This record gives sequence, C-alpha cells and structure tokens, in this order.
Amino acid sequence: MSASAVTLPAKDGGKLSLLGMPGPRLIEFFENLDEKPYRAQQIMRWLYQRHENDFDAMTDLSAVLRKQLAEMTTLELPPVLKREHSDDGTRKWLLDVGGNQAVETVYIPEPNRGTLCISSQAGCALDCAFCATGHQGFNRNLSSAEIMSQVVLAAREIAPATITNVVFMGMGEPLANYRNVLPVVQILIDDHAYGLSRRRVTISTAGVVPQIVKLASDCNVALAVSLHAPTDELRDRLVPINRVHPIAELLDACWAYAAGQASRQITFEYVLLDGVNDSVPQARQLIKLLRNRPAKVNLIPFNAFPESGFKCSTQSAIDAFWKTVRDGGLITTIRRPRGDDIAAACGQLAGRVRDRQRVRLGDRVMGASSP
Ligand code: SAH
Repeated sequence: MSASAVTLPAKDGGKLSLLGMPGPRLIEFFENLDEKPYRAQQIMRWLYQRHENDFDAMTDLSAVLRKQLAEMTTLELPPVLKREHSDDGTRKWLLDVGGNQAVETVYIPEPNRGTLCISSQAGCALDCAFCATGHQGFNRNLSSAEIMSQVVLAAREIAPATITNVVFMGMGEPLANYRNVLPVVQILIDDHAYGLSRRRVTISTAGVVPQIVKLASDCNVALAVSLHAPTDELRDRLVPINRVHPIAELLDACWAYAAGQASRQITFEYVLLDGVNDSVPQARQLIKLLRNRPAKVNLIPFNAFPESGFKCSTQSAIDAFWKTVRDGGLITTIRRPRGDDIAAACGQLAGRVRDRQRVRLGDRVMGASSP
C-alpha cells in the first residue's frame, strides 16, 4: 500500500487515515503488514457498523496489530465547529477541514428513512447562478477520509437512529471529485460496512458528462441530475457547465446510464425560480425532453439566500408547473424544504470557503479573465 494512494488529512502528521479506504485497498494494506485479507472486513465492521474509533477496543484483532494500527494510522474525524438542530428534526454539522475551510453535513429524518446529505468539496467551481455554495467559489476537493468522516460522525451522533440513504447533495460537485468520491460510494454499499443498496446512494450532478459515463461502468448508484432549465439558452445561464456539455449530450449520457441499471429512473432536479424557469410553456418543453424516458422530476422550490438575485416561484406557479409536468405523464414530486430554519436546505449550504480558484467555470467558459 503506497501512502500516496490515499489523500491524507494534513493535520494528522502524515498518518494514513483508514476512513474512506474501500475493501480492496484495505486488503492490500493488511497484506503489506503480512496480515490476512479478512482483516479488512473486520476493521470495516468496527469502523462502520459498531462506530468504534479506538483500536484497543477492536478485540478480534491481535494486540500486536492493534498497536501497529495505532502507530501507523488514524481514525481522527474533522473537528465539529457547530451542531444545529432544526425544529423539524433536521441536524446540521459544520466541520473544520483545516486551512480555515469548513463544510456542512445534514441529516434529514423522515418517518420511514433517515437521509444524510454530504459534501464532496470545500466550495464548488461550477458557479450555478442560484446556489449559495457556488457563490463562495472553490477551494479544494475533500479527501475520501474527509467525505467518509461525515458519514461516520453522523452515524455515531444520531444513533440509535440510522442512516438509510446517503445523497451527495451537500457542498460541491461530486463528479468533479470523482477520484475521492468513488471509494466512499464503494464503502457505503459494501456489506461489511454500511451495506446500503445502490438505489439508496444518490450522486447528484450538475452534468459532468464524462464522469457520468465513467460512473455507469464503475458503480451505478442512483443518479440525480440538476437540470433546472428546458433549453440550452437558459441552462447556459443558470448552470454554466451546460456551455461545455449541453442538454442533448447530458441526456444521452443519462439514458445510457439508466440502460445500465435496468432502466431505473434518473431524477431530474428542477429548482423553481420566479419568472425565470417556472412558466407553463417551460413545463411543456421539459416534458418533451423527458417523456417516455426513465425519468422522474423533482421540483425544488428555490431556497433564497442573500444576494442571490432570484426569488422563489409563487405557490400558484409551483402548482401549475407541477400539474403540467404530471399531466404530461412524468412522475413529479415537489421537494419540501427541510431544516430551513438552520439554513440546511438545498443550496443554502455555504460552510466557510475561501475561493482559491478565483476563475470559476462561468468565467472560464465565457472567456472572461479574472484578477
Ligand atoms: N453539485 C451537485 C450537488 C448540488 S446540491 C448538483 O449540482 O447536483 C443539490 C441540489 O440543490 C442541486 O440540484 C442544486 O442545483 C440544488 N440547489 C442549489 N442551490 C439551491 C437553492 N438555493 N435552492 C434550491 N435548490 C438549490
């Protein structure tokens, strides 16, 4: 196992984090220590099923191995800067990921499930016009350990409640950090770890088409696509990556993705912005794009944040849009805002990010230069 294969959290003095290492990498790690491959399964059960963070408590490992692990590796989680509880039961953690950067994780309990919404990047470079994270700019990709830590921390703190679903809908674009996101997905679906079914792990993307294609062959978990506009002209403005991968190309990748998973439906997210994308003719254009395809639509009332420049659609516009799309034959749901009293709703996650990139996708694609 080469240390460079895993992104190390800098604070741990160079110690390897076992969190975020998927089964095959753990096996390799233990083989290098002359240990049997099944040690990987044992350690995963301790970390992810019994929520254990002290090697000494891992009694089915030999004392020698426990000592070795404690010396060589770390299970340290990022410090929690803030914990918030919403009146509706939603919980939010603000995690310090070093370098004055912080990211957010949200747990949303519902009667029959508990969904954890995790972040994959400090900030985001995609610069979607209506997203609070995008407005902050991009700092860096989170390591697999930092992404996995969010799940481990939440699982520990919400017990005896459990995480039944994980969605990559927090800060960042998961497919722009593919290398570190994939191992986490593999752990989430591993029976020795969380054992979630693929339909209960959702990657949400603004449309990084080449990585959608790659994900289809690597691990076809549930896919959600942030469409938000029925025409390229409008989507170019709202979701700038559309200028690189326009709607037709994106949808082709989506249908190929669905074909690889027995046509399980892809969710198309559509944030409703007053007077921008919420008219009945636009709903009809949306139907044309998605009709007779393995698609369902999730309408998201816009969650306002200061200086976004957008307003949420009126209730009557939301209802009319929903009815039109539904009558067009598409399964259509409206996402109920959760945790908005603690700014935990979609697109409100801002954490703390210092934009290191400055030039964001919108600028790059438009050819504008940046200071
Ligand atoms: N980068 C991923 C994950 C982002 S967040 C993606 O683009 O899909 C998950 C969803 O929240 C996306 O559909 C995103 O477009 C949406 N969203 C972003 N800002 C929002 C806001 N202010 N109100 C409502 N939804 C928002």
